[in-house]
Amino acid sequence: MKYIILLGDGMADWPLPEYGDRTPLEVARTPAIDTVVRLGMIGQFCPIPEGLPAGSDVGNLSMFGYDPRAAFTGRAPIEAANQGIALAADEVAFRCNLVNIEQARMRDFTAGHIETEEARPLIAALNAAYREQFPEVRFYPGVSYRHLAVVKATETVSLDSLRRIQAEPPHNITDREVAAYLPSGAGSDWIRAMMDQSVGVLAEAPENSARQAAGKLPATSIWLWGQGTAPEVEPYRTKFGLTGAVISAVDLVMGIGVCAGLEVVRVPGATGWIDTNYEGKVQAGLDALQRHDFVYIHLEAPDETAHQGRADLKIQAIEDFDARIVAPCLNYLAQHPDTRILVAPDHYTTIQTKTHAGGPVPFALCGAGVPADGHGRYSERESRESDILIEQGYTLIESFLNPAPLDIGAVAAP
Ligand SMILES: [Zn+2]
Repeated sequence: MKYIILLGDGMADWPLPEYGDRTPLEVARTPAIDTVVRLGMIGQFCPIPEGLPAGSDVGNLSMFGYDPRAAFTGRAPIEAANQGIALAADEVAFRCNLVNIEQARMRDFTAGHIETEEARPLIAALNAAYREQFPEVRFYPGVSYRHLAVVKATETVSLDSLRRIQAEPPHNITDREVAAYLPSGAGSDWIRAMMDQSVGVLAEAPENSARQAAGKLPATSIWLWGQGTAPEVEPYRTKFGLTGAVISAVDLVMGIGVCAGLEVVRVPGATGWIDTNYEGKVQAGLDALQRHDFVYIHLEAPDETAHQGRADLKIQAIEDFDARIVAPCLNYLAQHPDTRILVAPDHYTTIQTKTHAGGPVPFALCGAGVPADGHGRYSERESRESDILIEQGYTLIESFLNPAPLDIGAVAAP
């Protein structure tokens, strides 16, 4: 059996008054996903457990079959895995943004979308400058403003206190005074001192002077957040007895793939936006099925367009997902009947709020051993009319990946 998971990030949404109280999924033409429903079934599942943030990290962990309450340790360690950075048992990874703070306010959490080539020497300068005062920290350069800091616990600041420090994501505090949002909790004074130290180092960097001369925002500080220890993710090979591949434009999703021991296929032109290389992604996915049991194709565009509040672009992203990702996979199913396809989002991203929301989202699945249950359209509303609601969202994949004839009622509370 071959298994195809097609994840439309943030695809679920609330009804929009300007579209006659229909959601983007209801407005969009989605003949391919509707075919998945018609051949198989639709239901609801909860990728975000009560009490956890409605993020792509939590939602995708569920989708991969990991209980986020056990597996989720933070965003940064997943990104570290994607970069091939192994965390020792006494280390915590922090996301390290290069930010622009002006007059004590968070002016830009991206430091003007600083270019990677300009950011690299800044990260190198931080490593050199911290060697004396903070030998417990190492910085790793990433892309643009997104870097990592790995911090080793000490006798005075334990691993546990490092994990528990409250650290605000800088994208949540644009234009606000930063003082109220600095890291807090036991051991946080040490982390704040690390952040303070960066101000002088960055002020002296020639790359920042060059940016200012060019009318760009300089990186005035680092901002540490999203920390955690190595994620507790059992490899697919032992958890499900399967091998697989992941295709995504997003570090976080690729990082979960690395943690799960899956092959991460990096597709040129995969942008995370509506201009992504759809054909390249789906081709890479179907090629991967020649050497693996399972492929996970993740599409970021519905989420990004919703963050911008652009219903028109979200609808386009859903239609492109349908025609250029789902439809070719249905063709594959027609040629390889011993295949299953699962289509789902990882959370709501609502046009109304421009951010994520929790709650049960619709999934559709079809293929070998999946009975047709009489529905014909993929939408939030249609999924609520099904009697399937999987509250422990991470168990959906266990049913899906079990090659026996599908009995989803066994895990679903009607
Ligand atoms: Zn997401």
